[in-house]
Parts: sequence; structure tokens; C-alpha cells
Amino acid sequence: MSASEDTLRYVTEAADVLALPPRIRKLLTTPERELKVQVAIERENGEVAVFSGYRIQHNKARGPYKGGLRYHPEVDADEVQSLAALMTWKTAVANIPYGGSKGGIACDPGKLSERELERLTRAFVGKIHEFIGPQVDIPAPDVNTNAQVMAWFMDEYSRLHGFSPAVVTGKPVDLFGSEGRDEATGFGVVVATERALALENRPVAGVRVALQGFGNVGSHTARILAEKGAKVVAVADHTGGAKRAEGLDVPALLDYARKNKGGVGGFPGGQPTTSPETLAADCDVLIPAALGHVLTKENAAAVRAKWIVEGANAPTTPDADAILRKRGVTVIPDILANAGGVTASYFEWVQNLQQHRWGREKVLDETRGVLARAFDTVAGIVREKKLAWRTAAFVVALGRVAKAVALRGL
Ligand code: GLU
Repeated sequence: MSASEDTLRYVTEAADVLALPPRIRKLLTTPERELKVQVAIERENGEVAVFSGYRIQHNKARGPYKGGLRYHPEVDADEVQSLAALMTWKTAVANIPYGGSKGGIACDPGKLSERELERLTRAFVGKIHEFIGPQVDIPAPDVNTNAQVMAWFMDEYSRLHGFSPAVVTGKPVDLFGSEGRDEATGFGVVVATERALALENRPVAGVRVALQGFGNVGSHTARILAEKGAKVVAVADHTGGAKRAEGLDVPALLDYARKNKGGVGGFPGGQPTTSPETLAADCDVLIPAALGHVLTKENAAAVRAKWIVEGANAPTTPDADAILRKRGVTVIPDILANAGGVTASYFEWVQNLQQHRWGREKVLDETRGVLARAFDTVAGIVREKKLAWRTAAFVVALGRVAKAVALRGL
């Protein structure tokens, strides 16, 4: 099943609960604009390389399109479409005034030099700049993109349209970025984990966590959880992993990863492990925080965690989700669990538009407030309608977007 069919299955389930009329369903499941561009750059060796770039704008009923930009060899139109739709549902669950979009370039950034990455980013902006803007569509970092990429993006867009810091979020703090944005997704994953545990009277302190993925989301999640006394018993990424039943030394792990291009493979403070083993680790909470579709019908039965908190986008296929539901595993879905990133992005955008600066505490406090309200609203639907968390989150999201679509009229 394709990525967009996966997302559609979740949407259909929620649309059935809401008994949405067919005309609204049609609008909510069709992206409004799909851009595919060819981005040509000159490589360091003088050769010309051409990459496919995408920006898919799913829905703007609740506000400008918003969503990340990823650089990865597996980026394709279907994947980006599914991720764009997830952004519509994520901004709606968080109740921030945005629609949803996503972009990507099919490339392996590990094989590109810094200068090639800059050229690629600027050339991509050149191809899509007429379709984005601070009040139109606002990109942000995602897999393999970061504050530096956003800085190039903003600079190129501003060269074409005049000073426009609000055209992207996730910028460097020294260049119109916001304090707190970098850690916000991990921060939000922890807020979701804490609240899910609290419903069963479990404090975070002492809880055993396994993390698959140690990029921006995984590393900040691990740091904050460890600060709160959780035991991080296993961590793995594409370079390898480490496990330790008594809990890994997370500050040492962060330090190790920093010195090894972000990778955790070979960390000496535990026994070696792998991503597949980590998904089946003996733990209370499993946090997939890397790429999509890692929990499948083949490995869902092997999950030993009681809670899964989705730091990544779309880490669980619908078949795996059904198995986990049957097994009584509580899955806090991506559109709720990882909404901290886009929420802090919203606050960055607000600061840019007001030409004003907030401190880290204020950004994180406001982000916590937004996420707590979202969590409690979804929890209310879980209780009232006896639904799985994912279905309840989609019910909240679809309900809000459907209302906006209906109020605007066709
Ligand atoms: N890429 C992140 C996400 O998937 C953040 C998007 C944003 O900040 O706009 O939620």
C-alpha cells in the first residue's frame, strides 16, 4: 500500500465517525496543488546534476500552507502528498492557524558538499518561489534539512521578493529564527509522553524508553526524558545503536553523536544494537523518531512497549496499527505527538511578522500550552467515543478542517 493510501485509511475512518458528507470528504482528500520541478546544479567536478523537487499543498482552509522540506533519496510525489496531508491534520489538531503542505528533493545529502547543498536549495527556491510566501506557504526543516538550509532558503527568497524572514521557519537563532524551535519537536514528544503516562498514574521518572532515530527529534527527546529521570534503555539509528537495561548515559551519548556526524553506532556505553531490535526492545515506551513505515505487520507483534509515541511522521502502517490496537498498545499518533515542531514554528512566524523576539522559556511554555490543550481535547474524544488515539486525533482534525471548508463555501 502506498504512503498516501495509508493516510487515506486513517482519514476515512475518522470521516466515518464524523459522518462527513461525500463532497467534504472529496475536498479533504485531494491536494490543492502539486508542484514537481527539476532542479539542476553544477557539481564540484563541473558536471551538471538534476534532481526532482516537490512541493505539495494539501489544504489551506484554516490558514497558509505549512510544512517541512526534506532531502532524502526516497522522496517521491506519493510520499510528499501523504506528508502534506498529515500537516493539514497536525496543524488542525494543534489548533494553530495553518493548512498543510510538504516539500522535498530526491537526493542523498550525504553525497553532496556544503556548497552543492546551498546551490540545490537556492535553485529549488528559484523554481517554486512564486507559489510560496509568508502568507501563502511557509516551509521548515524536516528530514536532513536544518537551520542552515532555511537560512539559504530565506536569503534566496528575499533576493527575489524583498526582505521576508517569515517565508520559512526553523531558521538560525542569529538570523530571525526563534529560541526553542530547534528542540521543540522533542520537547513536544516529551509533553505527549508525560500526559499519556499520567493517565495511568505513571510518572516519567523511572520509565524505560527505547528510541529509534537520533536526529533532531530523537536526540532532544532523549535529552529531556533523561533530565526528567526516565531510563533510556536503547537507542538506534542508521549507523547502529546501543542498549543498556539500567539506562544509557544520555549526556555521554549526545556528546558521542555530536562527534560522529550525529550517529550513535559504536557508542561504547552499552551493548551494540540495531533499529529492528530497538523496535522490539524490552521497554515501557517506544519512540520511533526517524523515517516512516518502520512499524509494519511483520514486526508489530514483536513490540514489547505499552506505549508508542510517534516522534516521526507516519512510522506505523495501518496494518501494524490494527495489530497494536488489538494488543492494547496505546499509540499516541504523529499528528499529536510531534506537533511541537510546527507549533514552535508558528511562534517563530508570529515573532517575524511582529518583528519581536521571545525568550526560550516563553516559546516552550506557549508550545506546552498548545500541546496540552490538543492532548486533552483528543483524550476527551478517546474517552467519550471509545476510540483509539489515532482515530480520535483525526476526528478532532477533520472536524476542524471540515468546519472551515464548509464556512468558506466552495
Ligand atoms: N517538519 C516538521 C513536521 O513534520 C515541522 C514542520 C514545520 O515546522 O512547519 O511537523
